[in-house]
Amino acid sequence: MDMQVSLLDRLFDSGLLIETGVDGLYGRSGQFEDVIAAFERMIDRFGGADGAEAIRFPPGMAMSYFEKSGYMKSFPQLAGTVHSFCGNDHDHMGLLSCMEEGKDWTKEQKATNIALTPAACYPLYPTVAKRGPIAMTGGLYDLQSYCFRHEPSREPTRQQMFRMREYVCMGTEHHVTEFRQKWMDRGVQMMEELGLKVEIDIANDPFFGRAGRLLANNQRDQNLKFELLIPVNSNANPTACMSFNYHQDAFGTKWGLNLEDGSVAHTACVGFGLERIALALFAHHGLDVKVWPDAVRTALWG
Ligand code: ATP
Ligand code: ZN
Repeated sequence: MDMQVSLLDRLFDSGLLIETGVDGLYGRSGQFEDVIAAFERMIDRFGGADGAEAIRFPPGMAMSYFEKSGYMKSFPQLAGTVHSFCGNDHDHMGLLSCMEEGKDWTKEQKATNIALTPAACYPLYPTVAKRGPIAMTGGLYDLQSYCFRHEPSREPTRQQMFRMREYVCMGTEHHVTEFRQKWMDRGVQMMEELGLKVEIDIANDPFFGRAGRLLANNQRDQNLKFELLIPVNSNANPTACMSFNYHQDAFGTKWGLNLEDGSVAHTACVGFGLERIALALFAHHGLDVKVWPDAVRTALWG
């Protein structure tokens, strides 16, 4: 644990991360951002020729889509919703005096129709469903978004607002499982170029509660989620820097994603945790990018 705190402190001292007063909510320096930008270009180098359709959603999504996604059923502890003041002049006076007196002024805040995006791919499924049937050759999408998860931590790789770059594939079972395997191979190759030690392991999502344990076991039994792990601040507990998820036809059924022959689309997504990958690079090669190994610098900056 001490080691973790000290990595965070070193990141603050170097200015790479900037404290905001909230655990897991950090500013990033130009240098930190440059590493992420370079890594994203590396992703393009590996995946660009696949011809994915690039779409960028804002870090908030429609509440109606969020509700339908089932996120509150599975991960209520991680969700964030946007609330706002919706009152009149009288309510405003009440709000101001409440704040003045140091009382809880947030009770009167009302839910807006925006939820914070929990994973980059969440807004995509309803968007694609609205377009109509997916070609038999499948659909491939390139996404990036800030995501929110309410999991405050002093462990620098567990942030509350962080970016996920994702590729999402929709098509037949064969098509999307090939896609997932291709990215597992590419992920390993990319991290090797970056001089990072990796391991791929079976994983599960952090489903809430007792019932959640069953869902997690089921996900593991069926090999639905894999993670690419890199030791960042602990060798015993390496950090998930990429995940490879096969949803079978669950999202296809939920959102009405159909292929041109009328069958329900299978879907899979691969996600890069951009802050985690940058942190893995800093933890392994040092906080000064100028002294990183030449091969790593070349992989990132050419
Ligand atoms: P974990 O098991 O570490 O909580 P997860 O399984 O919930 O992660 P995914 O939902 O698969 O993560 O998210 C995709 C990727 O986003 C992860 O592989 C990781 O790299 C990154 N990520 C997830 N949660 C965080 C976080 N709190 N801070 C930074 N990056 C994260
Ligand atoms: Zn996804």
